[in-house]
Formats: sequence, structure tokens, C-alpha cells
Amino acid sequence: MRYHFVLSANLCGCWLGLVLFGSCIFPGLAISDETLDASTIAPPTTMPLLPPFVQPLPATELVRLNTAAKTTVLQSPLRRSTVVDIHHVVLNPVVISSIINSTPSAVPILPFTVSASKPSIDIRTTDLKKKDNDSVTWIGKVVGDSLSSVIFIVDKKTNLLSGEIRTEGIIYEVTTSKGAQILNTIKIITVDPSLFPSEHGPQGTLQLSLGLGPPLTLSPDPNHPPVINVMILYSPEAVAWLESNELDISAQVCIAIEHMQDHFDNNGLQVTANLVHHGQMEITQNPNLGSFLINTLLPRGTAVGDPIYEWRKLYAADIVSFWVSEGNLSCGNSYPLYPPDVNKESSAFSVVVAGCATENDSFVHEAGHLFGGNHDRYAEFLLNANVMKNSNGNFGYIKPDKNWKTVMAYDNLACPLRTITDITGQTHTGNYCVRYKYWSDPTKTLGGDQMGNPDTTTLGVTCTPLTCQGPADNASILQTSLPTVSKFRPRPGDPAGSVGNISCVNTLPPAAPTNLTVK
Ligand SMILES: [Zn+2]
Repeated sequence: MRYHFVLSANLCGCWLGLVLFGSCIFPGLAISDETLDASTIAPPTTMPLLPPFVQPLPATELVRLNTAAKTTVLQSPLRRSTVVDIHHVVLNPVVISSIINSTPSAVPILPFTVSASKPSIDIRTTDLKKKDNDSVTWIGKVVGDSLSSVIFIVDKKTNLLSGEIRTEGIIYEVTTSKGAQILNTIKIITVDPSLFPSEHGPQGTLQLSLGLGPPLTLSPDPNHPPVINVMILYSPEAVAWLESNELDISAQVCIAIEHMQDHFDNNGLQVTANLVHHGQMEITQNPNLGSFLINTLLPRGTAVGDPIYEWRKLYAADIVSFWVSEGNLSCGNSYPLYPPDVNKESSAFSVVVAGCATENDSFVHEAGHLFGGNHDRYAEFLLNANVMKNSNGNFGYIKPDKNWKTVMAYDNLACPLRTITDITGQTHTGNYCVRYKYWSDPTKTLGGDQMGNPDTTTLGVTCTPLTCQGPADNASILQTSLPTVSKFRPRPGDPAGSVGNISCVNTLPPAAPTNLTVK
């Protein structure tokens, strides 16, 4: 039996009013955020209340769904060690519809229950992006946490919602529960990203050796800020892995692009992250991601490589990210394309494990390498001791004594020692720092601390997790490299003229091109 939300007479009246007059938005709800304009909200004493956005489930249904979700989580090694809690609630589709047809400033603070054991969090809407015909990307912040982010993809036809809430170092993954007996039931998976493997795992970082001449770096055009056109492809296994966890590939792709834009915006980089196409490609995966990148994705003249190159040419994609389902204790790989050079465009590919792409920011981390960025100095030192002679600022930044790191940095032994209990009850003890959506940048501060070191910083004589002193400014490197990366695939104007599948909700991507002639 399926239950249905019964709307109150007051709500129906309000909803009718909204449709007819466009003025009855969220009447009577308390406004607790100073950025909202109270004049846009009708007086509470004369208007009916809208029902809550989030409703609890009957206890038996909650237990049933939580148990089923846990069974699914346990089937994936990555999930069973990163998921720490599961909860389900019911969302009101009328409230969602009202929001996506409204303006950000008119949307009140919305309480959202993310866990049965935690107080609800308050969401403030900051943007409502209509990037395709099928969906609205609902962007927000958690009240009281300036480092938080909320990204929901809303299907305009169904008002179903998926996305994530990120606050205080924890990610709440939000998806529609397909096995629920009550319509609009949402599954909330609590993920502790501390438990993801590092991007490159035991395989290390690829070193690019192309025998190139002097780098050809393009100057920024002050009248045309760079647009990075991104194509994301994925294996059937990656799609199946996401689907088994009730995650929609299209939504994940759009969330990944939003995260990339957040990084640009947070660092004040005048750059646009632009999705030009995403689609599935029949391909034989290799969990050795470096080998898969080098031997499968990059070669031309093959049944796999040629369609990728044709798609890339068709959509003028500056960079390509290929998502797979597993990576042998790693989350991604790519070549660090530094220094920036238009002649390196043929290597602007990354491979990313789908389960790490958004929640571990591995998609952005690997793109960061394609933009020229290196890891933090200590992580690079572990690979090459000569790093301590390098006065260049192209390093990520980690502040272990304050428990945080930038997107190109890795945890080290100076991070706080924490014990995390996963959904199976197993404990994980390790040194974890929270990864924030920033590239290292000495012009930015967090809690009064610089988020990098300026070029004038003296090189340390030793390199330990706490003493690896030296310049750290990925952002300035990106400022230089992104104009070049944005021209990896030249086009008459930005964004690209040919745009493929950019839907955030379409689950049936087009087939790969066939019978193509590669030049
Ligand atoms: Zn890396």
C-alpha cells in the first residue's frame, strides 16, 4: 500500500493562490535570517501556515527502510567504511515546488532533519539555478556554518530531490528512496569523508613526461574570463554502482560541477565551470586507475579511445573526467599538467571513482592536477625529497593543528587523532583533517589563519608533517593556468557551441558515437 500526502485546505488555498497570483509564498513561517527581506513575506497573522518541509516516517516504515539501506551499504567496501548513519524522512513536494518557482530571497529558513540522533539543521537558500529544462539546482548554506554547502537537484516534473548537505565536516547525502511505501520519502546517508581513501592511494601520482618544448602559456583575456568546459563520461559499472545506492548519475555529475564552481568562487577566481556533455561509454574498467588512464583512456586508434576523442572534439571539452566503479583503495588519478601548456591538452584526462567524485571532492582534486596544482608540500616530499628545494608556491596547504586542509592536500600524522565508528559498528582510528572547498591561497583566511603561504615564505630545512615550511599558493598557479586550460579546445565563443547531454536528471544518456573517422 502506498500512502499519499494529504494537503490541508489551507495549504491548497495557498498553493492555488501561488499559482493564480504568484504572491502567496511561505506565509506565516518564521524568518530567522537577517539576509531575508521581510517585506516579501506576507503577515503571519492573516495567512495560513504551510506544513513543515520535512515530516517523520511511521516508526515501522523507518525501521524497515533503514534496515534495507544498511543492507545495501554493507555490500560496498567503500560505503561500509564511510557511512556512519542512515535516516529517512518525508519531504513535502508542494514546498519543493514552491521553492523552485520562487526566488532565493523569498525562501525562508527551512529546518531539515538529517538524523534521528541529531537536532535538525536550518537551510538558507542562496541560489536557484535553472541550467537545463528538466531541473532546478537549489543552492544553499546551513545557518551558522559559513563553510557549509547545500546542493539539491530538483526534478521539475516530479519535484523529487537529490543532493547533499555538507556541514561541520560531515556530508548528508539526500536521495529519493525507491523502496518506500510513502511518496517523497527521502533517504539521508551520513558520510564521514575522513574515511575515504586518498585520491591516488598506493599507486602514487603520475608523472608526465611528454618531451615537450618550452611551455606555451596563454595570457588571460580581461574581457573574457575563462570558461572551463568539462565532459564527464562513465562506465556502466559506475552507473550501476551509483544506482545500487539510489544515486542518480546525472545528479552526481551536476553536483560535481557545482563543487568545482564553489572552489573557483571561494578562491575568488573569475572562472566558470561549464558542463558540455555527460554520457555512458562501454569500456573495460581497470581498478589500477593510473594504468587505466594511460593504457585505455589516452591512446587513440582504439575502439575505446576514438569515440572519447570524437565526443571531446564535438563538444570542445577542455578537460575530460572518466568515472569508474572501483579503484583499489584509491579515488582517482590524473597527470599534473604543470607548467600550463596548450600542448598538453591531449593529456587533460582524469579518472575518478564514482563513489568518491562528489563526497570526497575527488573530481575537483583530479581536475586541480589538470589545472597544474600539486599536493601539499609534505605529501609531495614523501614522493620526492627534492621538493624542499622548490621555492615555487604550487603546493596545497594543510593546517593540521586546526584540523583542516585544502582540496589538494592529504591528511598527515599531525592531524588530530580521531576514532570514527562506521555503520557496521567498526571503529576507525586515524589522523583526520577536514577538507574544505578551497585551493591553497595565502590571501584567504579561515578562523584568522592564512589558507596558504606567500611566495616570500622561507623554505624549511626539514620536512615533517608540522615543519614542511615553504610557499603554498595553488590559487595563484590556477590564476595563471586556467586561461590556458580554457583554450585546450578552442572554440569561437564560450561556452562551447555544441552542447550535448547536460541534464541533471536524465537517466538515459545517449549512446556513444560509432563509425567515426578520427583525424
Ligand atoms: Zn592528487
